[in-house]
Parts: sequence; C-alpha cells; structure tokens
Amino acid sequence: MIVAVHALLGSTIARLCRTRAQAALAGSASHALADVLPHRDLDMPEEMLLLAGALSLIATARGANSREFAGALGACLPDVENLIGRLASIPDERLLLPTHRDYHGRKTSGFHGQLAIAALGILSLLLPGCDSEDARQRGKTLR
Ligand SMILES: [Zn+2]
Repeated sequence: MIVAVHALLGSTIARLCRTRAQAALAGSASHALADVLPHRDLDMPEEMLLLAGALSLIATARGANSREFAGALGACLPDVENLIGRLASIPDERLLLPTHRDYHGRKTSGFHGQLAIAALGILSLLLPGCDSEDARQRGKTLR
C-alpha cells in the first residue's frame, strides 16, 4: 500500500480515538489491514513525495499535535521495515511483519482502491472535530 494512503487512512481512523496515543496505535493496526488489500506499490521517490504531501496536508488541516497526525504517523511506522528492506536489498521473504512477508495483498495494475481510501481520508480532514484531547488542549491554551 502506498505510504501516503496509509497516512490518510490512519488520520481518518484517528478521528474515532480520544487521545493521540490511541490514535497512533489504531493507525498502526490499520496498516496491517490495508497491506492485505490488493494494491500497487510505487518506487521510493514517488512514495516519499506523496508521503510528504499527505503529512503536510494532515498537519495543515489538523495540526502536527493532533490525533489525526498521530494516527497518520502510527499508520506509516510499520513501513520503516520496507524502507530498510529496500535500502539494504532484503528480500520480502525475510521481512518481519507478516503483511510485508506472507500476507501482502496481491499486486494490481491500477490505483482505484487506494484513490478511494485517500479520497475518504481527505474528506475526513474537512469534517469538523469533536470533543477530544486536541480540543481540550486548545481550550487550555485559550485560558
Ligand atoms: Zn506495509
């Protein structure tokens, strides 16, 4: 799964969490679910460019201290293994995470599913927030 899509999915799921810690954990769990879906991966430069864009979008929309940003980071974190694997030329069969090794989704030629997930993620960033750790923290800074 494209890492930027993991980030947007993690930020969406984070909206259901009360704290940044919960959001990071939920984002991490979402990574495994997304990796088993059929998808197409990109080359490293494209992945990094899209990830920078997604994280910038989330930070701009919700703040770098938000649940959404924590969820996005949590969702991206497992792919550090893929980054190390590619840089060190480690074959997929030797990676540690089961969804990077044995349960990786089949490869597709298109991006339709990932575009749909990304669109939902961007839409969720546009929705107003609710009572959360972030809102409480914003309230504290106003007093
Ligand atoms: Zn992964």
